[in-house]
Amino acid sequence: MQEPIFLKPVFHEKIWGGTGLHDEFGYDIPSDHTGECWAISAHPHGPAEVINGPYKGMKLNELWDQHRELFGNAEGKVFPLLTKILDANQDLSVQVHPDNEYAEEHEHELGKTESWYVIKAKPGAMLYYGHNATTREEFADMIHHKQWQKLLRKMPVKEGDFVYVPHGMVHAVGAGIMVLETQQSSDTTYRMYDFDRVDQKTGKLRELHIQQSIDTVEVPFKMPTLNHKEWDVGDVHVTQFVMAEYFGVFKLSVAGMGNFENKDGKYVLLSVIDGQCVLKIGQKEYKLQKGQHLILPSTVTEWSLDGDATLIASKPGDEA
Ligand code: ZN
Repeated sequence: MQEPIFLKPVFHEKIWGGTGLHDEFGYDIPSDHTGECWAISAHPHGPAEVINGPYKGMKLNELWDQHRELFGNAEGKVFPLLTKILDANQDLSVQVHPDNEYAEEHEHELGKTESWYVIKAKPGAMLYYGHNATTREEFADMIHHKQWQKLLRKMPVKEGDFVYVPHGMVHAVGAGIMVLETQQSSDTTYRMYDFDRVDQKTGKLRELHIQQSIDTVEVPFKMPTLNHKEWDVGDVHVTQFVMAEYFGVFKLSVAGMGNFENKDGKYVLLSVIDGQCVLKIGQKEYKLQKGQHLILPSTVTEWSLDGDATLIASKPGDEA
């Protein structure tokens, strides 16, 4: 098939959400507590629907099951990636995600390594990233004594930053930050601290998963090393933020025309986060604009972009 696959996002309301997904991208959001846009998703908690072409009306998980030729005949029970946009009007819970092995055993799904491209950040915005415990015992002890200030590491971020969050990393997106998240297709979150917030809907505190957090955290904290690279494809500047076992994430800064060749036989996920451009495949042209999300199937081996836009691209890693 020589066509892109456009997808219709699914929205999730969250205690920490806001109206940013409407304000920034014009999405039709369900409420003023909308936290997550699941843009390219085959996950059962919110599969996105194909909105064009011969597979219009199918869910991405169905397409993965029935047309694996579009995905380079990749193996694997589930489509391995998930692209979201998160609007953190308040801090998210401080959390940890498991690796594939732990997640398979306890949750019957994939583990979760994730990453964030910062679309917007208010001045002074901070993330939680990593911790200060030197042993698992010390980590548990600091949680039990609620020594959050001492335990948690904070990190300032600004627009355009990229943050890689491997499984086992303590983390939270902070208030005033909007990110495009590229992650493994998993919805397993071990919440270790939720700022003692009451959920307005239920009148209760949200559930914590202290033991699972202690089991799965990486100790001591290690700053991951990323294989950052940059190159030009015609008038498109490509920034490779990371290419790791589960996924690669790239920024395409389009300022004119660039011709791309798919050399590795992988499919590519694309999200337009700013501007507009034209995607050309053969003689067919597709207008791309801010807020759109699509997949270029592996059967599309040559394509071009022309215009003035910023896109975040991702593709599966070798262990996805
Ligand atoms: Zn997370």
